[in-house]
Amino acid sequence: MTGIWWTSASIEIFLCSLTAATAHLLMSLGQTLFHRYLGHRGIGGRFFENHLHIHHRHYSGDHVVSENYLNEEANNTPFFLIPVTLVISLGYLVLPLDLLIVQLTTMSISFYVHLYFDKHYHVAGSWLGRFAWFRRKQQLHFLHHRYADCNFAVVDNFWDWLLGSYRGIDADRETRIKVSLPRI
Ligand SMILES: [Zn+2]
Ligand SMILES: [Zn+2]
Repeated sequence: MTGIWWTSASIEIFLCSLTAATAHLLMSLGQTLFHRYLGHRGIGGRFFENHLHIHHRHYSGDHVVSENYLNEEANNTPFFLIPVTLVISLGYLVLPLDLLIVQLTTMSISFYVHLYFDKHYHVAGSWLGRFAWFRRKQQLHFLHHRYADCNFAVVDNFWDWLLGSYRGIDADRETRIKVSLPRI
């Protein structure tokens, strides 16, 4: 009896983990593709204008950080809600309630983390700057602001590597030194 319970609990944990991992990866892939194909191409319309003409204008060249985040008026969040709603609707059709809740929770957290990281890459003295992994991601994002044809992913940088748009920090050491933040 105990053996059966453990088996069903293990399967449930596995399915929850699989659903959460898939939901987050869908979010980070979606962000990377939206950024690359809509944020940097005229076909993106308003999304393109918000991103390139406001976000990239605020932060360009060596000016990549500010005291306060300067992007509030360029809100592209509603555009991301369209595919997110689509994925959640599909989940509603095929997933049992517990996995649907896992999917909804993970996508909400992932969405927020993307917004939060994007913001804190550009805020001088962010508390996240104490972590080496964050500073590395920040440098990769700064390279995106410098060249605009690389490092489109905000959270999962491996998507750029898989899509052929990854530009490493070490390959661009000169840039890294120029845009590096003072240590906190
Ligand atoms: Zn940025
Ligand atoms: Zn961009």
